[in-house]
Amino acid sequence: MTIKVFIVGYIQTNCYVVFSQQQKEAAIIDPGGGYNRISAFLKSVDKIPAAVLLTHGHFDHTLAAAKFQKDGAKIYIHSADNEMAGAKQGLASKFGLCVPKLVPDILFEDQEIIKVGDIEFKVIHTPGHSKGSSCFVCQDCIFSGDTLFFESYGRTDFYGGSMTEMAKSLKKLFDLPGDYKVYPGHGESTSLSHERIHNPLA
Ligand SMILES: [Zn+2]
Repeated sequence: MTIKVFIVGYIQTNCYVVFSQQQKEAAIIDPGGGYNRISAFLKSVDKIPAAVLLTHGHFDHTLAAAKFQKDGAKIYIHSADNEMAGAKQGLASKFGLCVPKLVPDILFEDQEIIKVGDIEFKVIHTPGHSKGSSCFVCQDCIFSGDTLFFESYGRTDFYGGSMTEMAKSLKKLFDLPGDYKVYPGHGESTSLSHERIHNPLA
């Protein structure tokens, strides 16, 4: 499995492109911009954008999703964040942006398995940053969106946020058996074993 990171948009969101050598289909996690760069990369490695997996509905993670949808990708988001995917009253308006409404193809729930080519992503619903915030577990990696950051965690003061839920969600992650590499929505990557010790909510 190959993971390629792109830092996209002016809030410096981490977008991850995940694929295996054997299959054409690539998954794009949180394309908050960078459509041209990501598309060019996919062409260069002879892959197609098959799925856009959104950790949550904030525009800085979803902005380029519709463009990949036009290219044939299916958009996945947790059902509880569907309402805010590109909604005018959402986070984008706070930044003075008008983001076109996003129409996801598939609404997922906790514990669901999403298959892209031969790669499986398991959904862990981790509300707190938003109602539908979710992490994707894939082999020995967790794509943690704006839930778990390096020695930190996502803001809980936006619409749908909850500090109580955030604490519960982090506990859910820390209680997973074993260790995982953690690829967050912003900032540097970390590991679950590091965060079990150094995270302020650990
Ligand atoms: Zn966010």
